[in-house]
Amino acid sequence: MAVLPILQYPNPRLKILATKVEHFCCEFQDIVNDMFDTLYNEQQCAGLAATQLDILNPPHVTVIDFSEEKNQPLCLVNAEITAREGETYTEEGCMSITGKDNAILRAKVRRAEKITVSAQDRYGDPIQFTTDGFMAKCIQHELDHLAGILFIDHLSPLKRGFLLKSFLDKQKSTSKMH
Ligand code: ZN
Repeated sequence: MAVLPILQYPNPRLKILATKVEHFCCEFQDIVNDMFDTLYNEQQCAGLAATQLDILNPPHVTVIDFSEEKNQPLCLVNAEITAREGETYTEEGCMSITGKDNAILRAKVRRAEKITVSAQDRYGDPIQFTTDGFMAKCIQHELDHLAGILFIDHLSPLKRGFLLKSFLDKQKSTSKMH
């Protein structure tokens, strides 16, 4: 069991592309276990992508669980979105863009409302499903990570710059108060 460090923006490693998983044996299972340990160690965390963590050559895997009891683990390997429907514009945050006292930068992002996902489970068995709501948003956010994309990359450069600056300034002033 190991809780891994979550890489923080602007760490350039957040831009690394995940590698397709071909072997589902021991070493890979250890990584998936560590990812779930890391997910469950963070209170506000709904999902994590391997590219967010301190893993060499991060594999194309994401772990998700936003259930109250933390007992509905979903692991998607080599996942692809094969169909998109509708549009939502709701707030997101990211465990890789956080500040002091668990502050999380939040911003509204446009996503598909409903998606169909084709993937493999942690043992390599194929899975396919359609989902919407928070789960659809979460999967789109995590699959972006595996392609080196952060949710703030969906904002205009002007808005992104403004948001980041005010978030980071706030962190500085908070730290002065303590
Ligand atoms: Zn994120």
